[in-house]
Amino acid sequence: MKIGNYELHSLETGRFALDGGAMFGIVPKVIWSKLHPPDDQNRVEMALRSLLIIDDKRKILVDTGIGTKLSENDKEIYKLDQTEYNLEASLEKYDLETKDITDVVLTHLHLDHVGGATYLNGNKHKLTFPNASHYVQKTHHEWASKPSEKDKGSFITEDFKTIEGEGKLRLVDGYAMILPNIDVIIYDGHTTGQQVIKISDGINTLVCCGDVIPFTSHIRIPYIASYDINPITSSEDKEKLLSRASNGDWTLFFVHDPVTEAVKVEKSKKGYTIKETISL
Ligand SMILES: [Zn+2]
Repeated sequence: MKIGNYELHSLETGRFALDGGAMFGIVPKVIWSKLHPPDDQNRVEMALRSLLIIDDKRKILVDTGIGTKLSENDKEIYKLDQTEYNLEASLEKYDLETKDITDVVLTHLHLDHVGGATYLNGNKHKLTFPNASHYVQKTHHEWASKPSEKDKGSFITEDFKTIEGEGKLRLVDGYAMILPNIDVIIYDGHTTGQQVIKISDGINTLVCCGDVIPFTSHIRIPYIASYDINPITSSEDKEKLLSRASNGDWTLFFVHDPVTEAVKVEKSKKGYTIKETISL
C-alpha cells in the first residue's frame, strides 16, 4: 500500500496465543469460540504484526512484537512460535536489517509490543534497532514504570529501561505529528496513554489500532479484553475510532488478528461492520 511518499508493509514477527476468555471479556465462549476456535488450553491464536513504513529517508516500524527474550516457561505459556515468521526474516524481504530502522513507534509498552525492541546478549539487554528513535507517550511511560497490581504482568521493565538508558526514548506528550504525515492519538482504555498511529496524506489514511481493536472480532463494541484497565473507556475509545474510520474511509490495521491484516468499516443498523478486507 502507498500513502503519500510512504510504502506500507505488514511485517509478521511470530505467532502466540492468549486465553480466549481474557481476549473477549464478557462475551460467552459459546459465541467467541465459533469465531476463534481455542486449543485444549482455551488459548486463541494471535499474530504479532508490525507495520513497516518506508520512504527514501526513513524506515519506520510500528510495534516490535514479543521479541526473543522470553523464558522457556513463558514461551510455552504464550505458545510462542517464531519458526514460520520472525522479525529479521520479515525485514529481509524488503532488503532491510535491524540497523536500518530509523524510528520505532510503540503503541504501548506491553511485552508483546515492545519486547522485540531489545534482545539478550548473554544476560545483557541490547537494542535491536540501535540507530532508531523510539516513540512512546509520556503518560504511558509513567504508567508502565509504576503499573497497577492488575496489569504489572504485561510489562517487562528492562524492555523500556534499556531504550531509555541508551538515550533512544522519545516521550510524546499527547496528540502530535511525530514524523511527516504520521500522527499519534491517545486511546486510554486498554492502558493509560496507549497511542494509535495514523498515517495520512489527506486522501488515504491508515491507522494502526494497537490494542484498541486487536482482532477484527473486536469491532463489535462489547468485545473488550479483560486485560483492559478501563473497559468503559475502551468501549468509548473504540466507538470514537470506528466512527472516525467509517466517516473518513480509513484503513484499520490489526496487530493481533490471526487472519486479517486490515479492513475498512462502515456503520450499519447492526453497528460497525467490515466493508472491505485489505491486504497491504
Ligand atoms: Zn497486545
